Amino acid sequence: MVIEQDLIRLGSEARLFKGRAFSFRSKHAIGAAVLTASDDIFGGCNIESIISGLGSCAEQSAINHAVLHGQSCFRALATFDKKQNFPCGVCLQYLLQFAQIDETDIEIIAFDEAGAYTKTTLSALLPKGYRTEHNLTALREYAGQKR
Ligand SMILES: [Zn+2]
Repeated sequence: MVIEQDLIRLGSEARLFKGRAFSFRSKHAIGAAVLTASDDIFGGCNIESIISGLGSCAEQSAINHAVLHGQSCFRALATFDKKQNFPCGVCLQYLLQFAQIDETDIEIIAFDEAGAYTKTTLSALLPKGYRTEHNLTALREYAGQKR
């Protein structure tokens, strides 16, 4: 359960990283942040490419930012945009892989520029997402070795 202090931290970090968006094509800057099981926060922004289809969503870059710091268990993911926007299907599926490591239903919080937010969960947004059974043991063992 994400507490009020975590919400403030997540919203603040997602707002900060919105300012780092590399969105020369769309001019649509989006920020995101993840809260890890270790209570750390990592931000991300959308990164566009001159080659269509090669960019990265803010949510995915926040997740990757945490992984670069050795963390792969998440409690919450926040987005920050002009209006409240939830992660795309690709990002939800990407997040579900990490949620399977410790079977956590990750909270998803969408912030808007006024600071208002809506909370939901990964399972509510992606109730029938693909869950691995074949690679689950390897995934959990690998993540455990990284801690
Ligand atoms: Zn996405």
